[in-house]
Order: sequence, then structure tokens, then C-alpha cells
Amino acid sequence: MKIRADLHIHSALSPCASLEMSPAAIVGRAGELCLDLIAVTDHNSMENGFTATALGQKAGVKVLFGMEAQTREDVHVLCYFEDRLQAERFNRLVYDLLPATPNNPDYFGDQVVVDGEDNIVRHEEKLLLNALDISVAELVELVRRHDGLAVPAHVEAPPYGLLVNLGMVPAELEGAPLEIACESSRARVLQDYPALARHPLLRNSDAHYLKDIGRGCTIFSASSPALPALLAAAQAGAFHVICPEPHG
Ligand SMILES: [Zn+2]
Ligand SMILES: [Zn+2]
Repeated sequence: MKIRADLHIHSALSPCASLEMSPAAIVGRAGELCLDLIAVTDHNSMENGFTATALGQKAGVKVLFGMEAQTREDVHVLCYFEDRLQAERFNRLVYDLLPATPNNPDYFGDQVVVDGEDNIVRHEEKLLLNALDISVAELVELVRRHDGLAVPAHVEAPPYGLLVNLGMVPAELEGAPLEIACESSRARVLQDYPALARHPLLRNSDAHYLKDIGRGCTIFSASSPALPALLAAAQAGAFHVICPEPHG
């Protein structure tokens, strides 16, 4: 089956995302765009993602439990889970690894936990846009121990890309799927980083506004939308990507 997936979407919980990005609005927009699979991947937290997953079950859009974690090396890594309990455990561990720096909403933006009916439940007080006390290698291991999949985000893009900060793909991620930014030219990225030819290169929107959902996406030919089937499809090259025209 073909699975149209946008696995990198920020909600209003990310200080950098628009307040319009409620779980209900994201799931509604994904439905309008006929996306089969999405993930709400806020910085270092899954709280709005849990609500989006529950709404998606009613709306016929599968929503993976997701997060965009930021490691000690300032590398962004997308972390995906299917099992709610494992996702909750991982989310709690990450929260404990987040420094106790308070958010300054006037500078960074609001971090809003929203329920399924667009009511504000609370404001997250710790700054989520911050580095966790964990390395890339340790994070990848922690995700795997929770039956999840770790996919480094926008690997070629400064300031938070894996290749920008580490200069190479570490051994723990040998052959693993990686995300490249949807605006980037694949040919240019491979020219700059030839070693990426050994990796499936996925695309997502990294949407911070409703209008951007689905502007980059990956269409998997997989036996099901389950994580192991998606990983197998990615590693077999059974996918293609949709992205806007690259700049330059
Ligand atoms: Zn990022
Ligand atoms: Zn992002």
C-alpha cells in the first residue's frame, strides 16, 4: 500500500510554532490533504502529540507518537513510537534530561498544551527549545530501548543538523534513514556529503504553520503504516519524496 506521510510537524507547544497549530487543527489539515500518516514532533515534548494521536484515531489519520529531541551536541533527532506506554516513558525521561531553564514567552514564544477541543490546558514553563543532557549515540540507544525509531532531522541544515554539528553519521546510525530539509536539493546534499548515498533520505514539512503541513512528504510503498514496515520500505528504497522546488 502507498502511505503518504509527513512525519515532522510542530504544534503550539513548540515556542517557534504558530498558536493556530492545535492538535485538532493539525489532524484536520492532514485529513484535508489526504495524508495517511503524520507525527507531531515538538521540541523535547510529546504532550500535544498524545492528544493528536487520539484525535487521529477518530479522524482516520494515523498519528505516530513523536518528538524532535535536541541532544547535547545541538543535533535535532526525530523520535517515533507506536506504543503509548513506551512513548510516555520516553517522554518522562526526556523531561528529566531537560535543563530547568524557564521559558521567556516574549523572547522564544508561547509553549501551549492544548486539549482536543482547542482549549488551553496549561503553559509549559521549562524552555523546550534547549539541549538535553544526552548525546546522539545515547539518545539513539534510548529510543531503540523503547521500541522506537530515531531519524536525525534536516541533517545538512545549520544550526541543528547532524552533519553540521558532527561532520559525519555516527556508527549507531549506519544505513539508517535520515531526513533532509524539504527545501534542499538532493543532488547538492549528496555532492556535499557523498556518504549519505548509503542512507534512505526522507523528507517532511517541518511545518510550524498550518499552510506548510504536507509541503514536503514521503510516500512509502509499505505493507502497513507500522514502524517496522516503514523502516523496511525506507531501507529497500520503496519510497519517493515530494518537496517544493529547491532554491538555487
Ligand atoms: Zn529541527
Ligand atoms: Zn522541527
